[in-house]
Amino acid sequence: MAATAKSPRVKALVAGNWKMNGLKASRKEVTALAKRLAKGKRASCDVLICPPATLVGLLKEAAKGSKIAIGGQDCHAKPSGAHTGDISAEMLKDAGASHVIVGHSERRADHGETDAVVRAKAEAALRAGLVAIVCVGETEAQRDAGETLTVIGTQLAGSLPDAATAKTVVVAYEPVWAIGTGRTPTADDVAKVHAAIRAALKKRFRGEGEAMRILYGGSVKPSNAAELMAVPNVNGALVGGASLKAEDFYGIIGAYQA
Ligand code: PEP
Repeated sequence: MAATAKSPRVKALVAGNWKMNGLKASRKEVTALAKRLAKGKRASCDVLICPPATLVGLLKEAAKGSKIAIGGQDCHAKPSGAHTGDISAEMLKDAGASHVIVGHSERRADHGETDAVVRAKAEAALRAGLVAIVCVGETEAQRDAGETLTVIGTQLAGSLPDAATAKTVVVAYEPVWAIGTGRTPTADDVAKVHAAIRAALKKRFRGEGEAMRILYGGSVKPSNAAELMAVPNVNGALVGGASLKAEDFYGIIGAYQA
């Protein structure tokens, strides 16, 4: 498959979100992926796996010597303190993470995370030296009501830190109705939303906004990755289910292999 992503200045990122899946034995998926990446055609994208926090250290070790980076799926806004069960950005960094996802729709829905909370978490990521992957996306009802661009605009305005740069923040557009459902928007619909996100990023962050990565997420799999990754202003993917198996994830990374 050809590397067809349309924003040549922006190096793509293919990121896997393992959600609440994975035990120590899942290490074998990372070693298998590292082997495939070493043997196969050179991929022009960065590769990231975000396992549950319990596996960050182990998978960092397993990924040693490969191009696979390891990230967290969420962090607390504070660096430390009396917050039972929470994990700070500094702790993720200390365990070997380079990135952290914030504002995933499952966190927004299951934990009532508002844009302000997401923004505080993104600021914490920057404070700790992690890249923040900030997720936005409309629900099906919002889409049906024609509110997609308004919803995304509001989420971006409220969730992104003022200090965001192309190196420290990645935006992930994930339509909530496409996550884990096998349904995806058309390439035209993705193009419209990504163009609107790019325009908003440029308006607020100027040159940094032009170079900031915008990932598409929602039912990306090997069979649709090339088409979705070729859409203008799509600079990679955030992948849930299909990132759990090295073979499937490698198939998605294939969209960026020359
Ligand atoms: C996700 O949860 O970020 C996601 C995109 O999931 P899936 O690829 O399974 O739709």
